[in-house]
Amino acid sequence: MSEKTLFQKIIDREIPAPLVYEDDLVAAFNDINPQAPIHVLIVPKKLIPRVGEAVPEDQATLGALLLAAGRIAEKLGIKARDKGFRLVINHGRDAGETVPHLHVHLLAGRSLEWPPG
Ligand code: AMP
Repeated sequence: MSEKTLFQKIIDREIPAPLVYEDDLVAAFNDINPQAPIHVLIVPKKLIPRVGEAVPEDQATLGALLLAAGRIAEKLGIKARDKGFRLVINHGRDAGETVPHLHVHLLAGRSLEWPPG
């Protein structure tokens, strides 16, 4: 069996990281190296290495990631249009992916530039 990813170890409580959100399909915790005042990682409990490798059977899990983002934004008080948040998924080297376990970055708490770097 292949070794667990870092994020799988967090989900399985083998590496400590307080969960800010959890449901049947996903868990979320604060990024260890935040790029904004709010930087949450939303991760599927089932290992999908990266978004481009998701298969049709992952549809509910992919939807759960975005629904979780909305719930977390609500909980953190950033859902109003006069505040806001950004979701980012990095796939592969050119995008800066470093952990091979699909995750959605939720960034907020400051004005975010567009286009991104
Ligand atoms: P990516 O570069 O899109 O693969 O994002 C991986 C993210 O995981 C980076 O933003 C890292 O700061 C974050 N990260 C790495 N190790 C941990 C950890 N132990 N707990 C929380 N976040 C982490």
